Amino acid sequence: IEEPIDPADELMFLCLGGGNEVGRSCHILQYKGKTIMLDAGQHPARDGLAALPYFDEFDLSTVDILLISHFHLDHASALPYVLAKTNFRGRVFMTHPTKAIYKWLIQDSRTALYTEADHLSTFSQIEAVDFNTTHTVSSIRFTPYPAGHVLGAAMFLIEIAGLKILFTGDYSREDDRHLVSAEVPRGIKIDVLITESTYGIATHIPRAERETALMKSVTGILNRGGRVLMPVFALGRAQELLLILDDYWARHAEFQRIPIYYASNLARKCMVVYQTYVSAMNDNIKRLFRERMAEAEQAGDTEKGGPWDFRFVRSLKNLERFDDVGGCVVLASPGMLQSGISRELLERWAPSDRNGVVITGYSVEGTMAKQMSHEPESIPAIMTNRSAAPVGRRGLGVHGEAEKPMIPRRCSVQEFSFAAHVDGQENQGFIEEVAAPVVILVHGEKHNMMRLKSKLLSLNNDKAVKTKIFSPANTEELRIPFKVDKTA
Ligand SMILES: [Zn+2]
Ligand SMILES: [Zn+2]
Repeated sequence: IEEPIDPADELMFLCLGGGNEVGRSCHILQYKGKTIMLDAGQHPARDGLAALPYFDEFDLSTVDILLISHFHLDHASALPYVLAKTNFRGRVFMTHPTKAIYKWLIQDSRTALYTEADHLSTFSQIEAVDFNTTHTVSSIRFTPYPAGHVLGAAMFLIEIAGLKILFTGDYSREDDRHLVSAEVPRGIKIDVLITESTYGIATHIPRAERETALMKSVTGILNRGGRVLMPVFALGRAQELLLILDDYWARHAEFQRIPIYYASNLARKCMVVYQTYVSAMNDNIKRLFRERMAEAEQAGDTEKGGPWDFRFVRSLKNLERFDDVGGCVVLASPGMLQSGISRELLERWAPSDRNGVVITGYSVEGTMAKQMSHEPESIPAIMTNRSAAPVGRRGLGVHGEAEKPMIPRRCSVQEFSFAAHVDGQENQGFIEEVAAPVVILVHGEKHNMMRLKSKLLSLNNDKAVKTKIFSPANTEELRIPFKVDKTA
């Protein structure tokens, strides 16, 4: 006989965004009268209010604390909106590097949802915390642990009345050139694990092989006289790719005459942030940092900035200053080719079969990057004007809207994942190691999430106590009973 459960003994979990999708991450946790919000992002394939999480579905004035896992826009860029435009009045926490980068990123991102003044006036409300330190706010305890993924990214261990919840955010466990990889917090029995499921059960090829394949693709395009477009998010994984390219150029003199451009307004500013937080990175980059600083000192060149002051990379503020002749490699944002510099270069370069697009991030459904991975015959010109656009097939205008000029796509398209999300096996390994009796999957397109869910459920066959696996859709409230008195 099932005993009635006191609602006070239930954990309530609600996805306002990031449920059965990648984008606009925002989750609500409620237990013993305490309310926590995890992340506040926007959806990269949507515009305006439709890009926001379902904030109307929950009374934000009841939130005690809001924890931001990392600076990516799908996790952090709705925060100025939350702070300036809603009745939210809780406290907000993120790590120091996240806060430093968030400041520039939000200023650089264009949205009609809030103004720069909204961003700057709410920025001081954000409290920065260090990794591996525990904080107590209105009886909620939380500790950020390194999550890999991007600089400053954290997993949060949360404790409410003895119930321990681990939220991974986006995380990675592979050997990175600059980041410390995520580890399971030691000696802690976790009751609930909330984990990303971006890659479902897919397996990444090993890192060293992936780097070799990436460089083979890039140099192959250059060797046939083409230009290489690498769409990237303004910063984060771009720095890892720049480390790979700069290192390869240093070892291959024949490519050193070919420029690598990093098209970002933030290049200078973020180099300073990346130099400041070398201590938060892995041993590889710390060693590189010492070597470069010693070299600079010997050369009497104190202007050099260590490993983030790349030897073969030039920064590019906008395309007006860009001399588009001959082979080159351009890393440009946005990463999903929605608009901006990366889209403009795509439209310019797509018609030639000598050029190539190399995708290294995770492409969200509904974005041009995702469309490109299917190698379309033509793409709509939205950045280059009609007269300048090469003559191609016109849009069909099936819904009667104005026809968009179309550009033929003859450039090559290749994908290599450097998105720094765990693959299926790494995620499964982590989940098994955490061994929480309750697992909640978020941050994955439905088909990927369901494959991972089935895989995890199949592991229950050998277990006496079965793990509960949830994959809630947005706005679908989960109530999970925890009858054991955790306060004892
Ligand atoms: Zn991310
Ligand atoms: Zn994400």
